[in-house]
Amino acid sequence: MTRATPHVTHEVLNQVPPLAEYDIADDPALIEALRREAGPGWPDPEGQEAALHELGAAAGSAATQDLARLANEYPPVLRTHDSRGHRIDEVEFHPAWHELMTTAVTQGLHAAPWLSGTPGAHVARAARFYVWTQAEAGHGCPISMTYAAVPALRHEPALAARFEPLLASRSYDPGLRVPDGKAGLLAGMAMTEKQGGSDVRAGTTRAVPDGAGGYLLTGHKWFCSAPMCDLFLVLAQAPEGLTCFLLPRVLPDGTRNAMRIQRLKDKLGNRSNASSEVEYDGAFAWRVGEPGRGVTTILEMVSATRLDCVLGSAAAIRVACVTAVHYAGIRRSFGATLVSHPLMTSVLADLALESEAATTLAMRLAGAADRAARGDAGEAALLRLALPAAKYWVCKRTPAVAAEALECLGGNGYVEESGLPRMYRDAPLNSVWEGSGNVTALDVLRALGRVPGSADALLAEVDLAAGGDRRLDAAVARLRRELKDATAVSAAQAQYRCRRLAGLIAVILQASLLVRHAPPAVADAFCASRLGYPDQAAGPAAAFGTLPDGLETAPVLERVTVSVRG
Ligand SMILES: Cc1cc2nc3c(=O)[nH]c(=O)nc-3n(C[C@H](O)[C@H](O)[C@H](O)COP(=O)(O)OP(=O)(O)OC[C@H]3O[C@@H](n4cnc5c(N)ncnc54)[C@H](O)[C@@H]3O)c2cc1C
Repeated sequence: MTRATPHVTHEVLNQVPPLAEYDIADDPALIEALRREAGPGWPDPEGQEAALHELGAAAGSAATQDLARLANEYPPVLRTHDSRGHRIDEVEFHPAWHELMTTAVTQGLHAAPWLSGTPGAHVARAARFYVWTQAEAGHGCPISMTYAAVPALRHEPALAARFEPLLASRSYDPGLRVPDGKAGLLAGMAMTEKQGGSDVRAGTTRAVPDGAGGYLLTGHKWFCSAPMCDLFLVLAQAPEGLTCFLLPRVLPDGTRNAMRIQRLKDKLGNRSNASSEVEYDGAFAWRVGEPGRGVTTILEMVSATRLDCVLGSAAAIRVACVTAVHYAGIRRSFGATLVSHPLMTSVLADLALESEAATTLAMRLAGAADRAARGDAGEAALLRLALPAAKYWVCKRTPAVAAEALECLGGNGYVEESGLPRMYRDAPLNSVWEGSGNVTALDVLRALGRVPGSADALLAEVDLAAGGDRRLDAAVARLRRELKDATAVSAAQAQYRCRRLAGLIAVILQASLLVRHAPPAVADAFCASRLGYPDQAAGPAAAFGTLPDGLETAPVLERVTVSVRG
């Protein structure tokens, strides 16, 4: 390592060493939630927790931070043709991307838990995903899509039997080859077309039976992330209506399928992951699920990716918060560390509350997904309503947290080397993807209308905290009224209000979980600041750092303070 040479004109003073060489899994809210949600049947909890800390140390190492930087500073490059003019449609990535992907796949952050079937497998995977994505968010996209593809693929048992073991394999095997012969596969999804992404039924891609059991797809997709995946779940108009298909990049005979990558998106957010525009020119695909029931089939994938949106956003909130608290604990102004100035204490404690609540809610939903996957109907009903609400709210909070955390570092936070600009640019993504804010909030209404048990499951869950905090009790009474109203008022009125309802559900769920499980000072400060004013919950949020008087902030901040090795 080269030593920095001293400046001639001045000594470098009061600069905070970058936060590195720490265990990202040193996160009490995460570890406590993992133990709770994985439940008593979770095998070898000590061993799995030790492995999580190992992954946390790797994720927080300077070496991994460097991989993340390189993967974003050297973005993927599209090669449409070879030197002799043949189409190849390949995307080249920096070796740092492949290293990050190797860890993600060998750690089983993709489809591995679907093969396990043991209690807690999805919860443990959620915890590992949350930890590793704090190192670099972009490569999480194909990892999440591969995780999410399995439940949709199971609508076609023969295809699931053929590909699920390879999607769950812990071998990262990049490159375009026949899927059946590879050591491991990755899956993407392609729904959005130029004329609309929310309204997927307006899709124009056509699917025509090929006479031999398959289909030929003709059309385009306007957003197709991670186009080097091996398999894609695609929506297209079959003779019976919108249908879900599985489209391989390489055909069983070794030739390339007619999926042309037109260009890569020059997008906001991470630069490491490639998002593309593609055209299908009679591309071969297998049908998945019933013809004409494409939306229902692919919704299984959408639901699982939405869980990862919540986990990924909670992870971004956590790393932003930890970075700000670390910096403020060392940097001094006006003769004291930043954190000890009362107003900065209020800002940081407020961010810490947001982080604790986001992590706790994300892990509760991972627990619900785990139990729902093993047939628990009550947890499935809770998930159906709570997941879109959480996706709406936690993803909406992330850009606000990222901006505030960045400001805690002053000008240093605005500079790329701090890592915070990358996080800030990426912060809105999970809100847009997989159902943007309005669409996700509208899905809360859909769940209330179509899954009658979902409101009862939600109320039963929040009632577990009844009597624990008077502000929460009052907020739950309001939630009861609003849930009833949502189905009683006109459809237009219910839609007009549904962001408020989605936010209210998420904040009350967060509060109830904190009242039951978090240290009393955390629960008290959360309820005081988020539920203390009758109309505040999930309404126009005040800026961070406007906590009410009289709260105990030290125990709140302790939960987001990490120790650096050496
Ligand atoms: C980085 C990135 C990667 C992506 N990767 C993929 C991918 O791999 N595969 C894929 O299929 N898609 C992908 N998408 C596309 C994404 O899912 C869509 O952009 C999203 O679903 C919105 O669709 P749209 O862009 O057509 O916007 P529109 O559908 O035109 O919506 C525009 C706005 O109107 C709102 N809106 C729409 N309908 C209503 C309504 N009824 N009431 C109130 N408001 C409404 C929406 O919430 C949104 O805010 C990606 C997007 C991004 C940014």
